[in-house]
Amino acid sequence: MLITPAFTPVLKHGRVRPCSPYKRKYLEIKSLDGQMITRYQKTMINITKYRLEYKKKEKVFYVWADEEVVCSICGCKDMTRKGRRKRLVIMPSGKIRVLKIRRLKCKNCKKIHHELPDIIVPYKLHNSQTIEEIINGADEAICCEESTINRIKAWWLTIKLYIESVKASLEFKYGITFSSESKLPEIVRALVNRHLWPGTRSAWESK
Ligand SMILES: [Zn+2]
Repeated sequence: MLITPAFTPVLKHGRVRPCSPYKRKYLEIKSLDGQMITRYQKTMINITKYRLEYKKKEKVFYVWADEEVVCSICGCKDMTRKGRRKRLVIMPSGKIRVLKIRRLKCKNCKKIHHELPDIIVPYKLHNSQTIEEIINGADEAICCEESTINRIKAWWLTIKLYIESVKASLEFKYGITFSSESKLPEIVRALVNRHLWPGTRSAWESK
């Protein structure tokens, strides 16, 4: 069975307060079962249902979500819009596309989230299809420099073990099953929407 895209909150209405000495960058969150968890403040929400609207004047694509957005930290569904920010993504053809993604503030934990469409892999410029082809070794037809391909392969080697362990714990804790054919966007979504995507310090700390 493939992983369901539905969100299962890790923390329900967690209490959030600034965490000293990393006052600005880190938050300490208390979950309902009393666990204290430190999280890096930069947070994201992954969406799979969305529309891209091209604005000729600005030469950018606006991303509009067609699904309910849920806070990846506390599970709250009440969000307010806090403007947009630009995000570049390199398409499989090699073309650079400028997206304008939404910034959303959770009314419960007050965190600002960047809403990422599933063509984006967090902290990566190339889109998810390109990255998936590279890590699967199907990179002959990819419009990408050799050094970039090697860099992405090396990055995947470093995070692969972490992702495998998180997948195993998601299966154990929430009964979410990943098939061996699970695609990268599916794995990215499962991890990002539980605030577990590596690349932030907290993700490595919580190993
Ligand atoms: Zn929240």
